[in-house]
Amino acid sequence: TLKLAERVVKLKPSASIAAKKMVTELEAAGRKILDFTLGEPDQPTPAHIIEAAISAMKNGETHYTASAGTPALREAVARKIVREKGVACKAENVVIGCGAKQLIYEAFAATVEPDVEVIVPAPYWVSYPDIVGLQGGKAITVTCGAEHDFKLTPAALEAAITPATRWLVLNAPNNPTGAYYAHEELAALADVLRRHPHVWIMTDEIYENLFYEGERSPSIIEVAPDLADRSLVISGVSKAYAMTGWRIGYAVGPKTLIDVMTKLLSQSTTCPSSISQAAAVAALDGDQTCVEEATALYRKRRDRMVELLGEAPGLEVRAPAGAFYLYPCVAGLIGKTTQGGKTLETDTDVALYLLEAANVAVVDGGAYGLSPYIRLSFATGIETIEQGCANVVAACEVLF
Ligand code: PLP
Repeated sequence: TLKLAERVVKLKPSASIAAKKMVTELEAAGRKILDFTLGEPDQPTPAHIIEAAISAMKNGETHYTASAGTPALREAVARKIVREKGVACKAENVVIGCGAKQLIYEAFAATVEPDVEVIVPAPYWVSYPDIVGLQGGKAITVTCGAEHDFKLTPAALEAAITPATRWLVLNAPNNPTGAYYAHEELAALADVLRRHPHVWIMTDEIYENLFYEGERSPSIIEVAPDLADRSLVISGVSKAYAMTGWRIGYAVGPKTLIDVMTKLLSQSTTCPSSISQAAAVAALDGDQTCVEEATALYRKRRDRMVELLGEAPGLEVRAPAGAFYLYPCVAGLIGKTTQGGKTLETDTDVALYLLEAANVAVVDGGAYGLSPYIRLSFATGIETIEQGCANVVAACEVLF
C-alpha cells in the first residue's frame, strides 16, 4: 500500500468543498436540496470577459506564459492597485496564480516552517489554518466574537503576537461574517503592528467589491502605507466577476516575496491558463457596471434573507456588511430536541437537522472556527432563498 506523507494524513478536505460534494450526492440520490453552501456567484461570467477569452484563443494566446503571469495582466493589476488604493505598485510587485487560493498557499509555502506561528482571526475562511498546518506551521486562532462585530481588536492582536509570529492574516470583507474594518480600526491594528516589525500582514481582499452599506472595505496598505513593505494583498477575479472556474487570482507585495512565490509557481503549475489571464485583463480594465449590478443583486438577496430568517425562532441574524454570506448564531437552538428525538448539541447537529427537516444545506460554524453558528450563502437564486428560508423557519418553529 502507498505510504502517505504524515502532513497529508493530518490534512482535512476543505469543509465548503466537502459540503458541496454532499449536496451533489444527495441530489444524485433523488433528494431536492436547497443549497446555501455555495461560495461562488451563481451568475454567468459577463459577456465582454468571455469575448476577450475567445479573442485570445483566436489570436494564438494559447501557450505557456511567464510563471508570474502575463505582463498585460500584471500591469492591469498594478494599475488597479494604484487607481483604487492610491499606493505605488509596479508589475514586478504582482504575481498571478490559479486563484487567490493558490497564492495564499504559495505565500505560506514560501515562509512557513515548523515553529512558525500565523495569527488567524476566527471566524476564518476554512483554508488558512489547514494550509499553515500543511507547511508544518502553527495557526494561532484568535476568537473575534459578535461583541466586537467579528473583528480583531488591537488588544487581542497584541496578546497573540510572539517572537515566532510570522504572519497576521486579515480577511475583509470576511468569509463567513461579511465584517470589514473601518479606516480607524485598521489604523489601530497598524499601530500594534508597527511595534512588531517581524510580523508580516496577509490581507485577503477577494470580496473587496462586495459591500452593501457606506464606504468600501479599506486595505491596510492604504491606511498604513509604511507597512506595505511587509504586506501581501491577495485578491482575484473569482467573486467580483463571477469567474470562479477561470482560476485567476493575484498577489501584490514586496518584490522579494513575489519572486520567491513565482519560483514556487514555476515548479508547480508553471503558469495559470493563458486564456483565463486574457479574460482577467478584460475584467479588470473593462467597464465595472457588471460589478455594480452584481452587488445590487446580492444586496437585494441579503435584505430578503435577513428579513425571512429573522422570523426563525432560535436564530440570531445580522445583516452582513460585505461578501455574500449570512452567519447567524444558533445558540437558541442548542439543547432543543427534534421530532425524531435527537437533541441538538452542536452547530453540526443544527446543520444536519436542517438538511433532514428542511432540505436545506448550510455549513456549520465549527468549520470556520466560531460556534455555534451556521453559514448560509446568498449567492443563490431568489426562489431558493424564498423556499429555503421558509423551510428553515418552519423547521425551527417545530423545535419550540
Ligand atoms: N479567500 C477567501 C476568503 C475565499 O472565500 C475564497 C473562496 O472561497 C478564496 C480566497 C479563494 O478564491 P479563488 O477562487 O480566487 O481561489
